[in-house]
Amino acid sequence: MANIIIIGGSIMGSSIAYHLAMTGRAGDVCVIEPDPSYEWAAAPRSSGGVRLMHGLPENIEMSLYGREVYKDFARLMDVNGLPGGFDFLEHGYLYLASGAEQVAMAEASWRIQTGLGVPNKLLDRDALAARFPSMNVADIDAAIHGPQDGFIDPNAAVLGFRRKAISLGVEYIQDKVVDIEVSGGLARHVVLQSGGRVAGDIIVNVAGAWGPEICAMVGMTVPVEPLSRNTFYFEIRGEIETMPLTKDPGGVAFRQEGAGFTGGLTDTNVPFGFDWEVKHDKFETDFWPVLAHRVPAFEALQVKRGWAGHYAYNKLDGNTIIGNWIGGLDNFYVATGFTGAGLQKGPAIGRAMTELLLDGGYQTIDLSRMSYQRVIDNKPLLEIGFAA
Ligand SMILES: Cc1cc2nc3c(=O)[nH]c(=O)nc-3n(C[C@H](O)[C@H](O)[C@H](O)COP(=O)(O)OP(=O)(O)OC[C@H]3O[C@@H](n4cnc5c(N)ncnc54)[C@H](O)[C@@H]3O)c2cc1C
Repeated sequence: MANIIIIGGSIMGSSIAYHLAMTGRAGDVCVIEPDPSYEWAAAPRSSGGVRLMHGLPENIEMSLYGREVYKDFARLMDVNGLPGGFDFLEHGYLYLASGAEQVAMAEASWRIQTGLGVPNKLLDRDALAARFPSMNVADIDAAIHGPQDGFIDPNAAVLGFRRKAISLGVEYIQDKVVDIEVSGGLARHVVLQSGGRVAGDIIVNVAGAWGPEICAMVGMTVPVEPLSRNTFYFEIRGEIETMPLTKDPGGVAFRQEGAGFTGGLTDTNVPFGFDWEVKHDKFETDFWPVLAHRVPAFEALQVKRGWAGHYAYNKLDGNTIIGNWIGGLDNFYVATGFTGAGLQKGPAIGRAMTELLLDGGYQTIDLSRMSYQRVIDNKPLLEIGFAA
């Protein structure tokens, strides 16, 4: 096998490195990652959600594998008796639908999920009220409840994959890729900020929201842009029943987090690009009223902190783009466009990329529909029901 350079060592880069290393080829893999603390990466700033609640079979299958790996993470990432684990908090997911259009979308995606054996439940208003008595469901017509869904510690997931990959012999170089040299129709070297150059036979770009910048270095365009999303941590007085990760009909999402809750809103009406500012005023105007309406106990909440993270937002269809640059450089690979659901796909993308690179094609989940071809053809691959 040839030398493989992975650009970006967060959840995607470290999962790919781990899966490649598990085949015994760790010595051929090098990961270039500027920040071993992952301060700005999306993964540690994410909600950590893993759901089987998708509207495309590929996404459900990827999350099934993600769930399997994350539930067994301590054992899989064990390094010399030091487990790399966290608890998979199976608190469930809940998508709330209001109005005929949303109900139809919920039913359509629920059918796809149950068709693949996922034990999700379609709840009507009464069943929802009985299951979650603290919730105001007067304006809710239906909901999908995913009892096997939950969330993980995303920072520990990145560090677990990384530590295991290193223990298997993968080299991590602490540096930043600033250019890629191309000749003879192939990407040949990555140029590092420190001034060094690394030669590779295969280059894999998994730099998250910075991925489009890396693509631009070789002239590849992807319909992906950074989209800032604020998350807030808040606490309330008193106690309510354990809440699943709940998505309100307008897009506001919240879930339990330790002694309190986290919540955020994916707003595609803000300018795309990097924006690290936390908009506390928006919490007051756009977010809190929705929370207090849905869960009256949230009326007296106290915000303790907030942070910004960035989706690699796929403007074509919100879905994964994986594979080599069709019509461009045969040895330049990307995995991008994960929008709000990359953490749960990390394990599957690691395995899928390993299959593409070592076997020349998918052996487990067929992700052919998620290749760059649909970008060339301008044919969106939309989720049935709802998007992440
Ligand atoms: C607020 C928020 C909530 C989310 N919630 C969820 C959720 O509940 N469930 C879920 O599944 N997903 C969620 N996501 C999405 C998920 O976090 C991302 O899809 C996933 O982290 C993408 O992983 P990545 O490895 O591609 O990118 P990142 O984690 O962003 O990592 C990219 C890495 O590339 C490195 N890099 C950048 N530039 C260069 C360069 N020039 N050279 C070398 N390396 C470079 C960076 O340092 C970084 O470590 C959420 C995202 C956000 C922002």
